[in-house]
Amino acid sequence: MKNYFNYPVNILFPEHCIICGNELCFTDIKDYPICGTCLGKLKIISGSRCTRCGLPLIEDVKECIRCKTTGFTFSCNYSIYSYHDWAVKEVLYMYKFRKKKILSGFFAEKIAGILNLKYAGIVVVPVPSDRKSLKKRGFDHIGEIADLLERKHGIKIKHLLKKRIKTREQKSLEYKERIENLKGSISMNTDPAHMLSGQELELVVLFDDIFTTGATMEECSRVLKRNGVKDIVSVTVAVD
Ligand SMILES: [Zn+2]
Ligand SMILES: [Zn+2]
Repeated sequence: MKNYFNYPVNILFPEHCIICGNELCFTDIKDYPICGTCLGKLKIISGSRCTRCGLPLIEDVKECIRCKTTGFTFSCNYSIYSYHDWAVKEVLYMYKFRKKKILSGFFAEKIAGILNLKYAGIVVVPVPSDRKSLKKRGFDHIGEIADLLERKHGIKIKHLLKKRIKTREQKSLEYKERIENLKGSISMNTDPAHMLSGQELELVVLFDDIFTTGATMEECSRVLKRNGVKDIVSVTVAVD
């Protein structure tokens, strides 16, 4: 039965698209407030991409220049969007820095689609944030998505890693400096509920919002490898 009670409320207080601000139509309103036009602007990476980091490539080569010169511990990264895309940057900014938590539903839906397609049944480990950063941001942007992946999409989530200390802002740092900066900051969660066993140790999927230089994934992968995980891949919303 249609919920007619909501109808007049929507007319009086129409919902607006979180990106462009335009009023949403009935067909737009799903779990997250993004209008059809803006959704259409979020272009999923298609065509050739680097087999290691997932960066879109113009030429049909196997690996990008950065991956040719950097030896990663994880096997590969897969990103849905390019961070060079203005609309993608905007939606991630709205979520992370304008605290539009409602967008977690959008990211969870997209990430779940990739996980089910490429890594069905494999344990997903969210990349951890330190306490100070969480406090500053006001919410756990990765944790919110991970929670929905588990509750709504039935993905197996294990908070296997924790970030013990706050590291320097990474934005202006190169890969090597980032690796140095992150060294020793990530450790295993000793809570038995988040331990891996048997088959689970064969492959783990790391999950984060943006893949930039790969330094965070690298540090997480090194910790996982040292603790018996045989192979590590990662899935992120966007690649920079
Ligand atoms: Zn819009
Ligand atoms: Zn690459």
